[in-house]
Amino acid sequence: MLLTSKGEKKKIWWWYAAVMAVVFIGFVVLTAYMANSKSTALRSLYRQMGMYDNQNDAGAVNGLLTHAQSLFEVTARMVDDMLLNEASSSEIDSLFVTETNYQLQKKEWGFSNFFGVIRGEYFNGRKWAPVAGYAPLRRPWFQEAIKARGNIAISVPHINSRSNESVISVSKRLSDKKSVLALDIYSKYLRNCMRSADAISSWMIIDKNGLVIAHSDVTKQGHNLLSSRPWATDNEENLDNDDERLAREVMLNGKSSDFEYKGKVYKIYSSIVQGKWYVVRIIDENALLDQWKWDTARSIFIALMLYLFIAIIGAFVTKKLIKTASVSRAKSAFLASTSTEINTAVNGILGLNAIIMKEAYGSIKDYAKNIQMAGQGLLSLVNGIMDVSKIETGRMNIEPSEYDVFTVLSESFDALSPRASAKNLHLFLECDPDLPCSLWGDERHIRQIISNLLSNSIKYTEVGEVHLSVGYDSISPKTGEMVDDYVMLKIVVRDTGIGIREDNLDNIFNAFENIDQHSGQNQEGTGLGLSLTKELVERNGGQISVKSRYGEGSTFMVSIPQLVLNVEPIGDFTARYKKAAHKKNEPLEMFYAPDARILIVDDVEINLKVFRGILKNTRIQVDTAVNGVQALKLAQSKRYDIIFLDFMMPVMSGIETFRKLKLIDLNRNTHVIVLVTEAISEARGSYLNAGFTDYLGKPIHEQDLLRMLKWYLPKQLILTAEDLSQSDFDEDENASIPPATPEPASDPFEEIEFVNVTEPSPREKLSLFGEFLNLDTALEFCGNDEKIYQELLQEFTTSDVIQNIKSAFEMSDWDNYRFYVSRMIESSAAVGAEALSQEFQSLKKACINRRHNYILENHERVMELYANIVQKIQTGLATI
Ligand code: ADP
Repeated sequence: MLLTSKGEKKKIWWWYAAVMAVVFIGFVVLTAYMANSKSTALRSLYRQMGMYDNQNDAGAVNGLLTHAQSLFEVTARMVDDMLLNEASSSEIDSLFVTETNYQLQKKEWGFSNFFGVIRGEYFNGRKWAPVAGYAPLRRPWFQEAIKARGNIAISVPHINSRSNESVISVSKRLSDKKSVLALDIYSKYLRNCMRSADAISSWMIIDKNGLVIAHSDVTKQGHNLLSSRPWATDNEENLDNDDERLAREVMLNGKSSDFEYKGKVYKIYSSIVQGKWYVVRIIDENALLDQWKWDTARSIFIALMLYLFIAIIGAFVTKKLIKTASVSRAKSAFLASTSTEINTAVNGILGLNAIIMKEAYGSIKDYAKNIQMAGQGLLSLVNGIMDVSKIETGRMNIEPSEYDVFTVLSESFDALSPRASAKNLHLFLECDPDLPCSLWGDERHIRQIISNLLSNSIKYTEVGEVHLSVGYDSISPKTGEMVDDYVMLKIVVRDTGIGIREDNLDNIFNAFENIDQHSGQNQEGTGLGLSLTKELVERNGGQISVKSRYGEGSTFMVSIPQLVLNVEPIGDFTARYKKAAHKKNEPLEMFYAPDARILIVDDVEINLKVFRGILKNTRIQVDTAVNGVQALKLAQSKRYDIIFLDFMMPVMSGIETFRKLKLIDLNRNTHVIVLVTEAISEARGSYLNAGFTDYLGKPIHEQDLLRMLKWYLPKQLILTAEDLSQSDFDEDENASIPPATPEPASDPFEEIEFVNVTEPSPREKLSLFGEFLNLDTALEFCGNDEKIYQELLQEFTTSDVIQNIKSAFEMSDWDNYRFYVSRMIESSAAVGAEALSQEFQSLKKACINRRHNYILENHERVMELYANIVQKIQTGLATI
């Protein structure tokens, strides 16, 4: 899987949709909540404002009237005095003019003029001479003053005859009970006292008779609500009743009340001024609701736009993330697959190299050792990359199993001690003797953690020592209490190396962070080790920390919770280790098992050759198969004592082959040992749980393989050198015993002659091939086993690959042509047909470079060359 699969992408999109849905619901709920609280807030705001405005309005109106009245009283007293003193008309006239002008100078309060009827004569402060028909005694100000009998009267708004503007008159009957003094205030100044109206709030001033003295809607001014005259201008039928109800409501309930008017609810606030006027403010709650609706719609719209914006940005980001994830996954998958390929190849090389090391001497052996070291370095690098890509592609799982603590620690120690001794470093291992001997956890991860920390310490230490100490705490990782079934495994690796600068301590656990702090010291590294170690520790529920002094050394501390399976203490580690090392170093006594039969299944042919090479001296009968299908076929016809089965194979996987093998009666009880690449090997337990007898890590080490064979082969099949020579002797003896069934009569001389003729050695028999094949390289390939070489020759002559090459050629199918030609390059080289291998190599190159003409010209010639060699081999084989 190179890219994030469709299913995964779909899943991510589903998640995105779910998140957006939640956000949407959140938006809706929030908007509704906000709209609702806004409506409540608006309502309460308008109610407060209504009451407040109303009080203000009433205050201002009262202020205006009080001011007018007090002014009026002063002038009225002056006129009364003049009446008493029987002042002349011109004196009175002069007073009217002076007082009027004086007040007019203070423009702001709406004063118009003083006027009145004194001793039957009309006076006007503005010197206005009444027009014809003007009858002062019939004017509202005169009549209301008379009615008020010496009290101040305030008239309803009426049109001033002089200015033709709406005015309110303040008037009073004077002490002679005939004269009336009045002053006019412009009605518009009354209106100015009122706070302005808007779509939601309106106002009016009515008197005790229901007469509308002022109204925010001017057209309604002068109407009488109680005499069934509409205060509103529309023509609805129930208008009169509603108006009357409104007036009564204002007069009876005062202050504030809810009022339903023409199907709508209004909030009414009223205040009484001067005991005669009602100043009223009306809040239209419906209009308030309309405004709320509009506000809500606007909020929802903005929220939706915002949501849409977030959704689009989110989709864009998600798409980008998926793309980045895909690329990164593709990279990791590519790294993983490339690393696996490299791993397989290097394992093969190391396997063959091991055989070279075994058989070579002198400088060749030294070269081989160098190859071994370089190869192992390459393997550990590739394994690191594989682990990182495993983590990145989410395939790094915890595979817990039971493990023996002593084995894990001693093997980890053993693996690193050659490197430490190569640098003359002292490598110590100290282990708490009370540590339980058997734990449950991810053994492979524990090994990796120890190995990474130890190898770093060895790498970064030039003189001194590297110290691994292992201990434990009996503390539950969950509760922190002392328990028996858990331990907190403590691994501490301390060195006297170059140390880490304080400012680098935070970075060393970052991937690819190869801190170049030791300038001048050539430390090669990938920067993967510690990040991987930290990841492994944390995935296993543990913690890692570091203390270091630059130039003095570093200490890495790891604690990982592990389950206790056997509380028996591990005991004196050093003593046990010495004993085990002594045993291990004992050379494995050579054994032979000519009657044992094993099957090796591996898709990499080179691995099969390594097996054959190692086993050559044991005389074990070895069959090989390159895939599961071939293996099953062989297993159906022969019984094997052991089957070695590669875990990762094309065509049929190791585990599938294993299951099918177990269904074949002949091999139902055969030991099946799984071959696993070290880097991808999972915990030992998981293979054993799957039913395999054991597992063997690749590259194959001779001693490991031989030990395993000795362990699992039936004891009666294992022979020592002594047994073997005895059995050879017995065979010879048996050969001389005449068979029970008499053979057809033969010439006794011939037999004697045959016995006496010296049998040519197998090498001599093969020498005739030496004329056209390179026997040395070919035999080397076969671990110098002539028998294997003969088999290889036989296989070469009967190979169906050549037929495939011919068909591909006829169909101009160059891909397949190249594939089969490549196989012939190897097999020709393996039998020593070097010139033929070169020819196939040239054909392959032509395929790669698309020089099809070369193929057309040379194909037949190479085929003939092949046929020629095959014929010679067949003739040769027939004579052996
Ligand atoms: P590398 O492949 O570079 O060793 P690591 O991830 O293992 O990568 O380590 C990261 C860095 O941490 C190293 O480059 C080195 O500078 C520092 N480091 C790790 N272990 C030690 C140690 N024991 N002593 C000194 N420096 C160390």
